[in-house]
Amino acid sequence: MQGEAVKTTGLREPTAVLREVFGLSTFRGEQEQIIAHVMAGRDAVVLLPTGAGKSLCFQIPALCLDGVAIVVSPLIALMRDQVEALRQSGVRAAALNSTLTMDEVADIRARLADCEIDLLYVTPERLVSDGFLGLLSRLHISLFAIDEAHCISQWGHDFRPEYMQLSVLRERFPGVPRMALTATANPQTRDDLIHRLQLDDARVFSASFDRPNIRYTIVQKDNARGQLMAFLQGREGQSGIIYCLSRKKVEETSEWLNGQGIRSLPYHAGLDRSVRDANQDAFLKEDGLVLVATIAFGMGIDKPDVRFVAHLDLPSSIEAYYQETGRAGRDGQPSEGWMAYGMGDLVQRRRMIDDGASPVEVKRVERAALDALLGVCETTQCRRRALLAHFGETMSEDCGNCDSCLTPAQTWNGTEAARKLLSAIYRSGQRYGSGHIIDILRGQVTEKITRAGHDSLPTFGVGADLDAKTWQSVIRQMTVLGHISVDNEAFGALILEDSARPVLQGHQAIEFRRDRAGPAKERKRATRAQAEYVSDNPEDEALFQALRAERLRLAREQGVPPYVIFHDASLRDMARVRPSSVTEMGEVAGVGAAKCARYGRAFLAVIGEHG
Ligand code: ADP
Ligand code: ZN
Repeated sequence: MQGEAVKTTGLREPTAVLREVFGLSTFRGEQEQIIAHVMAGRDAVVLLPTGAGKSLCFQIPALCLDGVAIVVSPLIALMRDQVEALRQSGVRAAALNSTLTMDEVADIRARLADCEIDLLYVTPERLVSDGFLGLLSRLHISLFAIDEAHCISQWGHDFRPEYMQLSVLRERFPGVPRMALTATANPQTRDDLIHRLQLDDARVFSASFDRPNIRYTIVQKDNARGQLMAFLQGREGQSGIIYCLSRKKVEETSEWLNGQGIRSLPYHAGLDRSVRDANQDAFLKEDGLVLVATIAFGMGIDKPDVRFVAHLDLPSSIEAYYQETGRAGRDGQPSEGWMAYGMGDLVQRRRMIDDGASPVEVKRVERAALDALLGVCETTQCRRRALLAHFGETMSEDCGNCDSCLTPAQTWNGTEAARKLLSAIYRSGQRYGSGHIIDILRGQVTEKITRAGHDSLPTFGVGADLDAKTWQSVIRQMTVLGHISVDNEAFGALILEDSARPVLQGHQAIEFRRDRAGPAKERKRATRAQAEYVSDNPEDEALFQALRAERLRLAREQGVPPYVIFHDASLRDMARVRPSSVTEMGEVAGVGAAKCARYGRAFLAVIGEHG
């Protein structure tokens, strides 16, 4: 890769760098202001959602200012990808981490001394080591960029103690601008990172945490595998992540998918390190692979073209759900966050909290976090509105890109049903689980019913007008509403909460969300969503696929992920405008000078064949 570097000297103007190095025509959002602020020597805190384009906010100043920019990044894999992508664009970037040999380190040090590196990525532990700080003090540093800055906070989910030491930067390098960047939406974490990095005087740049290109869909679990299959239909060739709660379920699901002809690999902390790394690598480098994973997977994964994130089990909180689904669509292309959840998930999560080792106060917080997510699952309103409200954002309109907006949820007046349910629970002594309660309501004469004499209860058979599935839905929603709860100590017995009283007495009306129809309807929705990925013009689509194949070939040759060569968006653009010369190729979004020189002809040839 060396030797092909484009001389960056002379390209001192941010818009020129944007165009010539990155092949992009305009800045997005506040990128330009952030870049100008940092280039004026001031500190910045950049709080933007995933995919907003935070990297350019430090990469461009790094290329415009004299000296080397130091980028702190928590993960070696993340670093490797970013450096590779930069090198592909002809940028003089390097990474310093524990995987390098002594010779490689010596080489980087020599190039630093000769001012031949514009961006240096380092891990926090490497940065604060004495030797390295000493080396830095002899160099001209343009800026410090602290990426994934939420890692400094214990409130965040990715706490990294080494980040704490980054506060030395301010004292050791007083004149050098510092930037902290993160996509975390949690206010507590934000305050914490600003404080710990001593960035109290820095200007804070932030934008809405909305991810408009992600379509949120939450379906009631019925036959989860069938529902998943229906969702996956029409998504062949797309990369996606499927999250499951347990390692066992990860393996079973992955195996089952392979049996269904969907290529997938498992990922969880119980796998051998080498297997895990190989599976992650395959996911990054191959097109159209589905990774089935526990939450052990994902931190720092920068793959831009993950088209869907599916949850087969309920996450622990809105933060977790938002972060996990947020791994879809970093490239801004239409993507999906899909989840199937049911009563079982709710019970399982509550039990995990009850049985967990956390102190009482923490358990209370965990319960509240779970309840907030259940609220989103059961809402009849726009999902995005509910999600963003949790992060303190108010939307002026519904999003139009979630299941509630696309297929408005129907509600039904459940006041009577709720009373019948509460009465059945109460009269049978609050000692039975949902199956038996439903049998009472539906008037099923089972052995257990007869033995308990429940066929003589006044509520016996009063709910025969509703089927068992509807009753399950009623029980789930009454649980989420807090009128009943599941007693895990008593083998899942349903019990009444105080708030059930006015409902039971008929003083409070209840509206239930009508569960969505099963797979058949899902399938129709899936094809509709699919229509957005496929170009209107079938010939463009065929060309796009051919361009992808060429990209994969080139990526394999070099052992790099395809997206460091070109993003899907660039290939789509090529397929649509069909450049016929290197100059025209250079006009395509994402095709900078170095990439155009290097790959232009190969892709032009593919376009020529499709002429
Ligand atoms: P983040 O770090 O905020 O998650 P990235 O820096 O990885 O986001 O950028 C996400 C995507 O947006 C990348 O594909 C990048 O090329 C693209 N991008 C960033 N800035 C622009 C821009 N000004 N115009 C077009 N695409 C952009
Ligand atoms: Zn919506």
